[in-house]
Amino acid sequence: MAGKRRTGRRVKIHRSYTVDEVASLLSVAKGTVRRWLKTDLYCLDDQRPTLILGQDLKTFLDGRRKSKQICRPEECFCMSCKAPRNAAFGEVEYNPMTASGGNLRALCNVCSTVMHKRISAGGLEVLRSILTVTVPQVETPISKRTPTCTNDHLKRS
Ligand SMILES: [Zn+2]
Repeated sequence: MAGKRRTGRRVKIHRSYTVDEVASLLSVAKGTVRRWLKTDLYCLDDQRPTLILGQDLKTFLDGRRKSKQICRPEECFCMSCKAPRNAAFGEVEYNPMTASGGNLRALCNVCSTVMHKRISAGGLEVLRSILTVTVPQVETPISKRTPTCTNDHLKRS
């Protein structure tokens, strides 16, 4: 075996799996697999025991990995809700970091947690047509920059 692979790669798309097999293949609890079956994981429901197509399992795993990152243009990922959320009052604040992009700040419309998101200048233009985008003063002191910025050390010299 050649080292560690991402779990999705272990799934063979041309075979089918029982709940037990999926659990041991991915090193998760059987209860977890059953929970997936109640949400976005498809199975062959006229079969007993329940059979899950490898292709469906792979699609599900790929989707889960991506859904952590991908939100619609008007959404940010809320760390409290653990889900993409719309900005409260349809308002976001844009902090330009470079000429080509920056950070968005918005409040979750469900729990009011502050959400952050990287956005490109092009993405910002799309956003302006959907939401109210406010841009704070350009001369923001470094200490007030959003904590998600990891490039601060480049600007201090
Ligand atoms: Zn929230």
